[in-house]
This record gives sequence, C-alpha cells and structure tokens, in this order.
Amino acid sequence: MAPDIERCMYCRDSFGTDIDHHEPIVRNALRTFDWNNHLLACSHCNSHHKREAFPVDEHGNSLLIDPSSEDPFEHLLLALSMGEYVPLTEKGRATITVFGLNRFPLARARQQAYRVVVLCLRQWRREILEQSTNLADAMLHTIREQPCADVCQAMLRQVEQPGAAIVFADAPDIVDLLRDQTVRRALLLS
Ligand SMILES: [Zn+2]
Repeated sequence: MAPDIERCMYCRDSFGTDIDHHEPIVRNALRTFDWNNHLLACSHCNSHHKREAFPVDEHGNSLLIDPSSEDPFEHLLLALSMGEYVPLTEKGRATITVFGLNRFPLARARQQAYRVVVLCLRQWRREILEQSTNLADAMLHTIREQPCADVCQAMLRQVEQPGAAIVFADAPDIVDLLRDQTVRRALLLS
C-alpha cells in the first residue's frame, strides 16, 4: 500500500496503523469491502482529521486526492523551505484542509527530511569518489527508508522544473546530485 516502510498514505510521516475507507462507508456502504477503497493511514489522519469527511464538487466528484490512483503532485506543491503544502487545485486545497497536511509536526518533519536528503546525497557523492559502493548505496537506502518520502519525491521533481536554482538556493550543490541518473533511478517513484 505504501512505499518501503508502511507509512500513512496521507501524511507519509507516521506509521500506518489504520485502514481508512477513503470514501466513508456511511456515504457508500457498497464500498465497505472494495479493496481500492482501503488506504493505509495513521490514526491521527484517519481519526483526528478526516473522520467521515468526504467533500465533493457540484457534480458529486470527490475533492480528496486518492493517493492510490492519483498523483498528489498534480494538486499540491511542497514549499521545501517551509515544509508546507501549497494547493495547486481545489482538490489540493480540500485535501490540505481535511487531513491537516500543514499541521506543525508534519511541517517540522518535512524540514528534517529535507536536511537528511541533502546530507545523505553529499555523503553519497563522497563515497562514490572514494569508490565505496556499499557505503554509497547505504546513503541512498537511508533516504528511501526515512519518513516523509514525499519530500525526496518533491525534490526530485522540482529540480527538473524552471527555477530550480532558486528553490535550492540554500544548497546549490544538491541540484546536480538530484539530477544524477543513478540517484534518480534509485529514488524516484513512478
Ligand atoms: Zn497520517
């Protein structure tokens, strides 16, 4: 359900402890046993934030991003320096609100994840230069296993966008590392 360690599919920070019915069964009982309606979530996102919320547009279409079938980055932009999401669409806006995606502990955890990716990539380059393949692989493994996998994915995408030099102005050496094909093959989730 979730990449690598089993993190919540909504916040990607906490361990997934609950099975969330993405479309609440009080709204559509027919989806109670629908596998595609079962998402791994943490109790905070599931029980404290989303609960039975399921906002829809005027045509009845869901306004919540379904991470099992949609690309969240089409609706959300991660402001890496703040660790907060900015909505790109109505769906993004509703999803941030319903799940509390910018709550302080998450923003702080994303900032921490950003620092870990930067430090590990710098160390990866040193290990490559010293031909320490196992240690270099360990750096990439550390990135893959850490919480807030969305941060690394956002970095890998934003480095390919116009304005990357501004986004990574605080760590300009990271730009080439994020564009390295070995790094991208190891870290980029399709
Ligand atoms: Zn969560």
